[in-house]
Amino acid sequence: MLDFLPVNKDDIKKRGISQLDIILVTGDAYIDHPSFGSSLIGRYLESHGFTVGIIAQPDWKKDDDFLKLGAPRLFFGVSAGNLDSMVANYTADKKVRRTDMYTPGNEAGHRPDRATIVYTSKLKALFPGVPIVLGGVEASLRRFAHYDYWDDKVRRSLIFDAKADYLTYGMSEKGILRLAQMTNDQCQMSNEGTETATFSRRFPIPNTAIIIKDISEYKDALVLPSFEEVSTDKKKYAEAFKLYYLEGRKKHPRVIIQPCQGRYLVVFPPENLNQKEFESLFELPFARAPHPSYHAPIPAWDFVKFSTVSHRGCFGGCSFCAISQHQGKYITSRSLPSIKKELQDIIIKQPDFKGQILDVGGPTANMYGMTCTDKEGCTRASCIYPTVCNKLDASLKPSLKLMREIRELPGVKNLFIASGIRYDLALLDDEYMDELVKHHVSGQLSVAPEHICEEVLLMMGKPKVNKFLEFKDKFEALNKKHGKKQFIVPYFISSHPGSTLNHALELALFLKKNNIRVEQVQNFTPTPMTVSTCMYYTGLDPFTGKVVHVPKGEERSFQKALLQPTLEKNYRLVAKALKQMKKEMLLPLLTVRRQ
Ligand code: SF4
Repeated sequence: MLDFLPVNKDDIKKRGISQLDIILVTGDAYIDHPSFGSSLIGRYLESHGFTVGIIAQPDWKKDDDFLKLGAPRLFFGVSAGNLDSMVANYTADKKVRRTDMYTPGNEAGHRPDRATIVYTSKLKALFPGVPIVLGGVEASLRRFAHYDYWDDKVRRSLIFDAKADYLTYGMSEKGILRLAQMTNDQCQMSNEGTETATFSRRFPIPNTAIIIKDISEYKDALVLPSFEEVSTDKKKYAEAFKLYYLEGRKKHPRVIIQPCQGRYLVVFPPENLNQKEFESLFELPFARAPHPSYHAPIPAWDFVKFSTVSHRGCFGGCSFCAISQHQGKYITSRSLPSIKKELQDIIIKQPDFKGQILDVGGPTANMYGMTCTDKEGCTRASCIYPTVCNKLDASLKPSLKLMREIRELPGVKNLFIASGIRYDLALLDDEYMDELVKHHVSGQLSVAPEHICEEVLLMMGKPKVNKFLEFKDKFEALNKKHGKKQFIVPYFISSHPGSTLNHALELALFLKKNNIRVEQVQNFTPTPMTVSTCMYYTGLDPFTGKVVHVPKGEERSFQKALLQPTLEKNYRLVAKALKQMKKEMLLPLLTVRRQ
């Protein structure tokens, strides 16, 4: 019988306790596996002696789900799940999504918009006085005042709107553990004989943010423009963004403060797990299965059940991505024995394993084992763009060793690398390229050139198109050499800040000339805390202060349609866009002629 964290009163009783220390409320279904934030934090706290229960995808229109585990002794931990709830619920065009891969049956509608706020207000009404700690991607990337695409306005830090006691951000295992240990000392016995913590004072804990009224003790902190300033002045917004973005690139950032309506948001610097601590997470006693109460398959589970994580962090610095603002820019890699031990467990214990390891990766698979050799690091957005930093140990040998040793594991027929790779890094090592193509592509390899025009790539922080073409040629040559029929699936983003209609047309003509058919187009979505979102909202490059063109309204539809001009549904939009550019003569070339 697999062991799961308690999800009801019977589970609590079976553990011989009357009250849980911590209850985690999450917008995802409960899959007891290290890829899911609440499970990971739950098991981590449990391994340090705390009892933890899970309330997964509660029905927020009723009280029952929130009441089912009673009050925790220390605090409620609230998360929207592995995704921001607005990203999970809406498309780039603000249409309601019809699916949710973190829910049984892939069903949409099981997590509310702004889930962190909704869950917190429900808990505050039902359990007045019980402390609440926010976590997960939604809280992490909304820790400062931020532009919200769905409201089309600047919102305060999420901790203000949710009225929570603490907000945790990033890879916050250490932060939440210290929070649990400290609040444990503050517990008081109630009349009913149950204990409840109070946060009588806010402590500086890594990876957390708090609200306070007096900042006199934080003399060396970086103070940002206030919420009032950034919500009314776009230049101030860009200035605040640049300040906290660059501070966050350092190995040892300072405390960051943002004044807000007479109070202060104080964000304490992160403290990441070291390699041993990181590895120990994968040895926690996860059931490695969805909770047995679910009857329909959960798509997210299929992505992770035969896969593992090799490292955390990303130093790519792509402007539209917030991973480095969440996981950090500096890489923490697991050792080979740690990864192999976990995979051996999957091979032996997962009943339907057939020899295919579907992924070993991280935010960018081929950054495994790469390190910044400088003691202090620096504030550069990217360690590889526009050039590879000479202080970066950019060897692909650790990746090669990893691939070789895993494919030799007894029981493994194939190891695929499904996480994205940086093709500019892959090109640094012929041996890596050769073995990647020969052994580790499952028919299609996803790569992300994102655009081809230099001005747009500059805004995106992506390498020039000649790198993509070099990679494509090499990939095709190696396929020929090894007698393989494998394809590159390139991803492109339309309507990114800096991209004009002419740029979109140039990209359309490039795709036509190179016979590249785009399966899926990502119309740029301004998600919280990315450089690109700052550009989208302010119309400014936050680092240079220069004005940036921002496609909005109909132009977004035009740019998206131009990337898939042969689709029937796009014909009218492409014709209109070409007319606007006075390039109607290109219509027959780009579209399929209709009778
Ligand atoms: S590798 Fe270079 S660019 Fe990257 S953080 Fe270190 S010093 Fe900065």
